[in-house]
Amino acid sequence: MATLDSAVAGAPDIPQVSLRNVHLSFGSNEVLKGIDLDVGRGRAVSIIGPSGSGKSTILRCLTGLLTPQGGAITVSGTRVDLLRAEPERIELRKRVGFVFQQYNLFPHLTVLQNLVVAPLRVLGRDRAGAESDARRLLQRVRLEDKIHAYPGELSGGQQQRVAIARALAMHPELILFDEVTSALDPETVGEVLTVIRELVDEGMTCVLVTHEMQFAEEISDEVYFTEAGRIVEHGPARQLFRSPASDRTRAFLARAL
Ligand code: ADP
Ligand code: MG
Repeated sequence: MATLDSAVAGAPDIPQVSLRNVHLSFGSNEVLKGIDLDVGRGRAVSIIGPSGSGKSTILRCLTGLLTPQGGAITVSGTRVDLLRAEPERIELRKRVGFVFQQYNLFPHLTVLQNLVVAPLRVLGRDRAGAESDARRLLQRVRLEDKIHAYPGELSGGQQQRVAIARALAMHPELILFDEVTSALDPETVGEVLTVIRELVDEGMTCVLVTHEMQFAEEISDEVYFTEAGRIVEHGPARQLFRSPASDRTRAFLARAL
């Protein structure tokens, strides 16, 4: 696997993430009906589409939380759909950061403790190193003054920025964002989007599921529109938003914008 990974790292034209004809069902409910999707290294890709169309399911497949019944999923040269043993899946989850709508910070731990717990326990980092890393990341999300606060003392937007810093503390190869601003008060959405925009600008590979259409257009290299378990259309952000090829994409955007 190491050889494959290093070969891929030296070839930016090979997608870092690729899904090929991915099929996934929950019982008799076929939720992904042949998904093809590519994310280049250092690229930002957004997935938009109606509720229930399979967007979160796609992201959960990329973390090894769900295994499709058909097709192939590759993340940095690893066929993640073939991972069966739990230790291999844990290895994958170290490499793929995941930030959700519900930030799920540990309420009884301070911001600093939230940031170091996984690096200490999962990566086996030493405490001094993990803490200096955490301080640097809190500066990056502009929350260094909240280092000893508890999550309950922070606004939703601040908690979500801590959740992003917590994902970054694992030094992931890519980060998945699943509707991370949907539960926030409107006035704190902007500060979270700013942090994501900076990550994209710095070249972090990002896959976003979002309802923030303007933001998606602004930061994404490529946008995929999903409906009922299929990719209806994908293309460069400007093209998909300004001149969608499909009537269904057009109808969705007319409702969403
Ligand atoms: P989206 O994120 O686009 O709103 P999801 O990927 O969450 O859509 O869900 C797609 C479909 O899969 C929905 O019909 C949902 O009810 C179903 N689904 C999602 N997760 C599960 C699960 N764990 N068990 C059964 N059905 C699920
Ligand atoms: Mg979802």
